[in-house]
Amino acid sequence: MANSEYEYVKREFEFDRRLPPSNWSVVRIDGCHFHRFSKIHAFEKPNDENALRLMNTCATAMLEKFPDIVFAYGVSDEYSFVFREETEFYHRRESKILSLCVSYFTSVYVMKWKDFFPNKELKEPPYFDARAICYPNLKTIRDYLAWRQVDCHINNQYNTCFWMLVKSGKSEQEAQLVLKGTFAKDKNELLAQQFQINYDDEPAMFRKGSSVYREKVETTVKIDDYGNPIKRPRLKVTVAHIDIIGPEFWENHQHILRE
Ligand code: ATP
Ligand code: ATP
Ligand code: MG
Ligand code: MG
Ligand code: MG
Ligand code: MG
Repeated sequence: MANSEYEYVKREFEFDRRLPPSNWSVVRIDGCHFHRFSKIHAFEKPNDENALRLMNTCATAMLEKFPDIVFAYGVSDEYSFVFREETEFYHRRESKILSLCVSYFTSVYVMKWKDFFPNKELKEPPYFDARAICYPNLKTIRDYLAWRQVDCHINNQYNTCFWMLVKSGKSEQEAQLVLKGTFAKDKNELLAQQFQINYDDEPAMFRKGSSVYREKVETTVKIDDYGNPIKRPRLKVTVAHIDIIGPEFWENHQHILRE
């Protein structure tokens, strides 16, 4: 770059914040005003399956684009992206990492919109905010992901009840009053008794959110001279709706959060 008398504006005024070393970094993005965005695009309530699948497609594209993202977890209008502990992506410069993540995700969201909503015009540009959070060890990053999944469960259980009440003729205010102060057990009973719904039978994507990660799969790389397939393990980006709070998933996928 050419030197000029104006160079000082960069040298003296620009500061790079770097994510601390040896931390798992999470970038969490969240749709801005998606309450309104979901209304004007007539999302099904409480869960529009196509909107969730679109989010999952964007997250898959993120893992395919940025190899240092080892895991992603999404629910509603948010997605968390976990960067590997020792990432040197953009020398861990926070503003670069945040802005790349949020702009790439948003671009894919707009590009893929018509695949999921072929009959719905995109009426407003969707936009997302982003933040970065650093977790110094395996326990805290696991707890972060558990926190998001517990949140998913609590919100989804509430929203399932709320929208069943509204669809059965209650006003939003009345539905809110019915649910005020209720515990999880009460909500399950309400769903069972008033609406014959067993909460555990609701789709796993709604109850568990979506996890995106690389899964080892045997793929045929070529056919040998005798017509036999030659298989090699490959890592393929996968979306699953599974429990990530307990140890089982992590024990079976130790390559994901390897320290
Ligand atoms: P980086 O990712 O580091 O920013 P870059 O390839 O974007 O890399 P820049 O220094 O930002 O590099 O330069 C932008 C490049 O995009 C230049 O090579 C420039 O020729 C090209 N470019 C941008 N806008 C235009 C335009 N309107 N017409 C022609 N070329 C353009
Ligand atoms: P903010 O800009 O502060 O994030 P917000 O309106 O986006 O405000 P959130 O707390 O992020 O508020 O909640 C997301 C909203 O988007 C909820 O109201 C939720 O109902 C709606 N929403 C997001 N995804 C879906 C979906 N797949 N189906 C139905 N509604 C959705
Ligand atoms: Mg939001
Ligand atoms: Mg949100
Ligand atoms: Mg550039
Ligand atoms: Mg550490």
